[in-house]
Amino acid sequence: MNTADQALVKKMNKALILEQIIANAPVSRAKLSEITGLNKSTVSSQVSSLLQRDIIFETGRGQSSGGRRPVMLKFNRKAGYAIGADIGTNYIIVVLTDLEGEIIEQYERELDETDIPATEQALIELIGLATLKMPDSHYGLTGIGVCVPGLVDNDRNIVFTPNKPIHLLQMKSLLEKAYNVPVFVENEANAGAIGEREYGHSGHLEHAIFVSINAGIGLGILMNGKLFRGVQGFSGEAGHMSIDMNGPLCRCGNKGCWELYASERAVFSPYLSHTKAPLYQTVKELADHGDQKMLETFETFGFYIGVGLVNIIRTLNPETIILRNTIVESYPAIVDSIKKTISSRSKKEALTDYRLNISSLGRTASSLGVSYIVIERFLERFIDEQF
Ligand SMILES: [Zn+2]
Repeated sequence: MNTADQALVKKMNKALILEQIIANAPVSRAKLSEITGLNKSTVSSQVSSLLQRDIIFETGRGQSSGGRRPVMLKFNRKAGYAIGADIGTNYIIVVLTDLEGEIIEQYERELDETDIPATEQALIELIGLATLKMPDSHYGLTGIGVCVPGLVDNDRNIVFTPNKPIHLLQMKSLLEKAYNVPVFVENEANAGAIGEREYGHSGHLEHAIFVSINAGIGLGILMNGKLFRGVQGFSGEAGHMSIDMNGPLCRCGNKGCWELYASERAVFSPYLSHTKAPLYQTVKELADHGDQKMLETFETFGFYIGVGLVNIIRTLNPETIILRNTIVESYPAIVDSIKKTISSRSKKEALTDYRLNISSLGRTASSLGVSYIVIERFLERFIDEQF
């Protein structure tokens, strides 16, 4: 084997060992050798190198299988931190997490959807606040992830954010300069799918659809556990799937798009106009008082969501659908109306099995997803010994 090949094998071994420590901690060197199939001296030398670089640490002693009780190894989740920012149409959420995605600080601000300077200012300000709360650590801030409801191409350059045309490329280079860390950009629904896969409570997600319903509707599609992006990275724009060929013209150029019916903006617009309170607060108050019109609106919301989901279930045959919407999360009964619509529009034989779950991460799903992307890239660079 030549030197380049040897270096590559070492890197792959190191990556494999670190991955297994993260997945199985606390774990002994002997157990790692058993899991990875690598011999004990390889495990031992790679573990020493990881210990030296503070990304893992030794903790207590585990069960003995005869002989001395082995020293156990753990991933040092506090070796560095990540920031994830979700810029919605009318809100921004910023989370500071450790390297296992545990939220250390979380900030959220409601924003006027047309006020671009205020959104950009909030992004800078909340990220600044998060960095101030970051505990001391070996690697400090490892990166910043930002997601937006828009088209993000495979090179992670924003292409189109119709609801929120912020100057994200300028923001990206500004943040990179200010904090001297990489900044990653992702589509909000894709980020949510990653967040659910890594940190959600829906179990192992192999063939799953993350449906994000806010001002618009976006899908994050997981196929064989991986994000399906399409050739340019623009997959999942199901909000612009037509459900009425003669329906009203949409800003995307199509007619009768799903999100013209089933988005929050479409269904709850009467409640957006006559009050200054946030939509969720208004809706919650009315529903809590048993307001008949509001309960009917919920039913309608579920109906329109179901009409689109039938098409998605038929097209992609997902095992799991994860629904991310603050109103549905507050009123899970809406799911009944979604399911009722799906069954009423499918012959029993034509409808495949599917699980419909409400997002367990709720409003933080996408910010946690981009935070995970930061951590994943940090660990890749770490293995490449770029530190
Ligand atoms: Zn459209």
